[in-house]
Amino acid sequence: MADIDYYSILGVEKTASADEIKKAYRRTAIKYHPDKNPGNKEAEEKFKLAAEAYSVLSDPDKRSRYDQFGKAGLEGGAGGFGGFGAEGMDLNDIIRQFAENFGFGSGFSFDDAFGGNSGVQTRKHKGADLRVKAKLTLLEISTGVTKKYKVHKDLVCPHCHGEGSEAGYHADTCSTCGGRGYITRTRQSLFGMAQVREVCPTCQGEGHTITHPCKHCHGTGVIKGDEVVEVNIPAGVADGMILNVSGKGNVGQHNGIPGDIQVIIEEQADPNLIRDGQDLIYNLLLTVSQATLGDSVEIPLVSGKARINIKSGTQPGTTLRLRGKGLPAVRGYGYGTGDLIVNVSVYIPEVLSSEERRMFEQLKSSENLTPSSSIKDKMFKTFKNYFR
Ligand SMILES: [Zn+2]
Ligand SMILES: [Zn+2]
Repeated sequence: MADIDYYSILGVEKTASADEIKKAYRRTAIKYHPDKNPGNKEAEEKFKLAAEAYSVLSDPDKRSRYDQFGKAGLEGGAGGFGGFGAEGMDLNDIIRQFAENFGFGSGFSFDDAFGGNSGVQTRKHKGADLRVKAKLTLLEISTGVTKKYKVHKDLVCPHCHGEGSEAGYHADTCSTCGGRGYITRTRQSLFGMAQVREVCPTCQGEGHTITHPCKHCHGTGVIKGDEVVEVNIPAGVADGMILNVSGKGNVGQHNGIPGDIQVIIEEQADPNLIRDGQDLIYNLLLTVSQATLGDSVEIPLVSGKARINIKSGTQPGTTLRLRGKGLPAVRGYGYGTGDLIVNVSVYIPEVLSSEERRMFEQLKSSENLTPSSSIKDKMFKTFKNYFR
């Protein structure tokens, strides 16, 4: 799956500073702004994509996850995720956010900046995002897993169905803004008189007001309650990743836009295996005799065990690679499956019986058991390669 390139969308280098990214977004957003390109679907898509790119690249945490794992690092990719794409974002929200973040509307009006009729209209309440932790074993990470969470959150008030009005009543058109959601003021600015468009203070931009508030939710349209949320966690996730479950957070007041649930991945330490990206490392401890004579030994896998042959004369520090016995890539990013790397160590006994001591004393004088200078050279080269 080709990954989306947020950097090229904004036309910046991967090394771009936060300021460069901000400027690039401003430039791109103005170029493709719906006010400048009325009815142009392609421009609208590019405008949305730019907003998506900016929302990721302007957030240091999201940016580093994106750099490391691509878009998969932000959303996971399995069922239930997604919704992060441009298609999931509300155009009016993007326009409003752009106006708020880039100073339009506080000194200039949209009409001044773009020479057209602004698309800013009523806005909806947005529910807050929620966070949950997913503590995963290596086995769960290797296969992917579905987790259920009982989440305490804002739900749609069942009494008024989220509208906020008592039965038999409906919200009235806001008298302050006439239902437009904003008010226009004329203000003196550095560049002369400017039309300033502000969110209506009476209805907070909704365009309507509640005259008879619902007694259950006091007119907000939301009540606290528990909901069981199922989260599909794809295989291959890593500690610290955050998966976004779109629309499962707090619902928005008055049937507004629901927030998301962010699932923070926590990897539980495995008793045997150490993770290194998609590879796993196992430290195999052999006896002196096993390393010298060779043996068949069992090693633990993420699931189950494997038997491997140790050749006679195996040196400590030797690594053996079991291809494909590591972890899979997160869907949509990375390739194939990692390996299990077996690092060979040799156990040297600390306490000996008198008979064992005698045996080792005998071995000590054996010429064949003492490394020659050519063996030492060979070992030194192997050692050096290990650090390369
Ligand atoms: Zn209610
Ligand atoms: Zn209003």
